[in-house]
Amino acid sequence: MATFLFDEIIFGPVISRRLGVSLGINLLPVDSKVCSFDCIYCECGRNPKGKKQGNRLPERSEVRDRLEEVLKELHSKKRDPDVITFAGNGEPTLHPGFAGIIDDTLALRNQYAPGARIAVLSNATTLHRPGVFEALLKVDDNIQKIDSAFEETIRDMDCPAPGFQLRKTVELLRKFNGKVTIQTMFIKAWYDGITIDNTTDREIEAWITLLKEIKPSRVMIYTIARDTPVESVTKIPASQLNEIAKKAKAAGFDVQVSG
Ligand code: SF4
Repeated sequence: MATFLFDEIIFGPVISRRLGVSLGINLLPVDSKVCSFDCIYCECGRNPKGKKQGNRLPERSEVRDRLEEVLKELHSKKRDPDVITFAGNGEPTLHPGFAGIIDDTLALRNQYAPGARIAVLSNATTLHRPGVFEALLKVDDNIQKIDSAFEETIRDMDCPAPGFQLRKTVELLRKFNGKVTIQTMFIKAWYDGITIDNTTDREIEAWITLLKEIKPSRVMIYTIARDTPVESVTKIPASQLNEIAKKAKAAGFDVQVSG
């Protein structure tokens, strides 16, 4: 099915379902996806096979210069974004200059768009890197993915790179002391001879228990909105997402739903 790659370092502003008017920053190559997960629902497609990942990453100075140019222009037109979002063609925190780029972005935001939030959409696989963890503490919206409380479901759904351990990830997420939003994608799918469904009662019960352990300040739940590389991935109806949200709210969480 038709997936897509962002072909620029800075993209948008676009209207984001979850974040508002969002100016995107893509720290990954503009012609290839690079991620430590390989989610079956990824809008950027599956990870490239058979060819080396890691085409050219933008330099820190390129990101800073291009961001300054775009923020200046938007400001002159009185079109400041609501949010500057690190997303793009894979996992933004894999960029070796991520921490420095966050510092540059904070400075540019303060200068040209002081009302804009800075958000990072991440899959929580690099939290063990001290520079990354500290940089994430500086942003307004530190949004980390946990798609299930069961490692087996994460393996089926998100296909992590070798070395992933859910327990270690949870321990690191707890260290944010609440300065974190957990994002969870809900889907159903049939893939590789396995039925995947992270909306069952067993899944939701365990997911809420895990949230209680992580203690995030907010929870974002959503389902697919565009084409996915694995065709059998199915969108969850809004009514079902609302039911899941109701259960999480009853457990005391601030929940945002994007259908
Ligand atoms: S973590 Fe995000 S970018 Fe990486 S494969 Fe999953 S959906 Fe795609």
